[in-house]
Amino acid sequence: MYPSRKLFWLACFCLTLDPVAAQSAQPDSENQPATFPSFANSSSVQLVDLTHPFDRSTVYWPTEDGFQLIRGPAGITPKGYYYAANRFKSAEHGGTHIDAPIHFFETGQTVDEIPLHRLVGATAVIDVTKSCEENRDYQVRVANLRRWETQHGRQLIDVIVLLRTGHGRHWHDRERYLGTNKTGPEAVTDLHFPGLDPLAAKWLVEQRSIKAIGIDTPSIDYGQSSRFQSHVTLFSHDVPAFENVAHLEKLPELGATVIALPMKIGGGSGAPLRLMAILPPPR
Ligand SMILES: [Zn+2]
Repeated sequence: MYPSRKLFWLACFCLTLDPVAAQSAQPDSENQPATFPSFANSSSVQLVDLTHPFDRSTVYWPTEDGFQLIRGPAGITPKGYYYAANRFKSAEHGGTHIDAPIHFFETGQTVDEIPLHRLVGATAVIDVTKSCEENRDYQVRVANLRRWETQHGRQLIDVIVLLRTGHGRHWHDRERYLGTNKTGPEAVTDLHFPGLDPLAAKWLVEQRSIKAIGIDTPSIDYGQSSRFQSHVTLFSHDVPAFENVAHLEKLPELGATVIALPMKIGGGSGAPLRLMAILPPPR
């Protein structure tokens, strides 16, 4: 019996002792043990939160209402314990969030159908900050992706690609971040921020094989896009996208591991996302 089988039977034995765990045990391939970096007990491991907070200032697409926290009761109850509970209201696509493939591809996966293996993985951070400083409508090209491969001696295969445009530093200035302070459908033509060139999206799905992609701007297509071709290309190949990613400047170009945990909205086209990275150990 292989060690993994021993562990399997040990887990089954434990589940039979734990009625709660036994109820939740499903024959689900995604629940198989995964190989993770051993970090739980190490104080030297650095974790980076790549998520913007959800509050009144969170940036949403100009056609959407912003995030609303609806305050509920908060205080000492007649029985003497403290209790607080709120409600929130939010579009799927706002703040740090995931686009599920169905967002731009009719038969694509919904957010609850995205397999977990696409949401955890080694990262490749493509730094195009300088180009985006010179041109806020910059689109990340195949040449940028190839340059990363040459510099790091590996191909963009089985990785989560994160596009560091530097545009995330404007997050607290909505007008600068989106390119406009207008809201409603007429605002869409005034959007200006960097994105992924549709030809680079095509190259990634046809010549490489990535798990997912993320960017520190409101959209994987640049602000002036009207056909959202990078969305369509990526999503027709089941590659989800993370948008409004925070603090990409804290990640090395190679060596970090990302964990992306979207709210598991049944049938959702996207969802708020808690995104974090585990940095490689210091050398
Ligand atoms: Zn989105």
